[in-house]
Amino acid sequence: MPREDIDSPPQPLCDNHGRRIRYLRLAITDRCNLRCHYCMPEEGVTPVGRRDTLSYEEMTRLARLFPSMGIDKVRITGGEPFARRDCLYLLRALKAVGVADLRLTTNGVETWRHLEALRDLGLSGLNLSLDSLERGRFAAITRRDHLDAVLKTLFNALALGLALKINTVALADLRDEEMRRLAELARDNPITVRFIEPMSFSGLPISVCQQAGRQADATGSAPEANEPLAARLARLFPHADAARPSGVSMVFSPPGFVGKIGYIAGHSRSFCQRCDKIRITAVGMLKNCLYDNGVLDLRRLLRGGATDAEIAQAIRLAVSRRNIDGHRTEQDCARSQQPSMATIGG
Ligand code: SAM
Ligand code: SF4
Repeated sequence: MPREDIDSPPQPLCDNHGRRIRYLRLAITDRCNLRCHYCMPEEGVTPVGRRDTLSYEEMTRLARLFPSMGIDKVRITGGEPFARRDCLYLLRALKAVGVADLRLTTNGVETWRHLEALRDLGLSGLNLSLDSLERGRFAAITRRDHLDAVLKTLFNALALGLALKINTVALADLRDEEMRRLAELARDNPITVRFIEPMSFSGLPISVCQQAGRQADATGSAPEANEPLAARLARLFPHADAARPSGVSMVFSPPGFVGKIGYIAGHSRSFCQRCDKIRITAVGMLKNCLYDNGVLDLRRLLRGGATDAEIAQAIRLAVSRRNIDGHRTEQDCARSQQPSMATIGG
């Protein structure tokens, strides 16, 4: 393998299946101020210690390496990014070291306080998670009564002209009527509303997940939720053009809509052939796939005195051993406990 020099022209980061990696998702914490039932148990996940979490300086050092590998898009996620103190300090530092396309995924509970700062620092896009517009259902899903704050983030972000996407997990009790209401946010506003297939990353033992699945089947929450998302959206919005790929999502714009709607087949994993992203968890594990257990301990390298060139080379090597898709990775990484999406950095 050639020696890395981060000051030389970018050498694209490619995996062993010819996919170019352009996109990094960086989780800055596993802590959160919500308790979404599909993401973590009621008591939350056991948080990693502060010293085990990468410092902002360590994250910024890593971010400096990525442009030389052709990674020009970085998304900050968690846990909830604003649950970590001085999240804005990190965002500004990342812009200062040359991250051109910087984005953020948030639950919106505290975000409304920071929207002007996000706009001013040059954030390229904000993804807001919003699973329900009904106060009772929102509180049942998130185990917290914070819908008003999330809506404040939504409408203030729109007023400020921030590029906005809404992520909605299409849970088993999501009825057509509410799905339509959520989707219609994109009718009058220049936003994209995406429905996500629920995945198994709930932070619970697998036996408990199976039991919960059986209970949901028994109560038969919403029969229409058994329909694949592509077919369901086509049924609800019949006169739209076919959905087109946009990253890992499929999106379309129904007639009369200013924005777009779409879906992410996170559980079916029908998009792996065009996956261009890697992840770094809050403790500095590099992940090639949502479904792996981590492929490179970057914290050990950072704290063990590795040079930038050595770290970059180790990243290239890890990415050159990527599985073809998430189904294969899941088979390889059998486990008795599902990680929480907050720990993975969803
Ligand atoms: N706390 C922030 C938020 O909720 O936007 C960022 C982290 S959260 C883990 C990122 C995204 O993962 C959210 O849109 C959330 O809905 C989604 N997510 C979490 N657990 C999931 C699961 N089990 N299946 C599908 N999506 C999930
Ligand atoms: Fe927190 Fe986001 Fe997980 Fe909900 S999905 S518990 S907001 S990390």
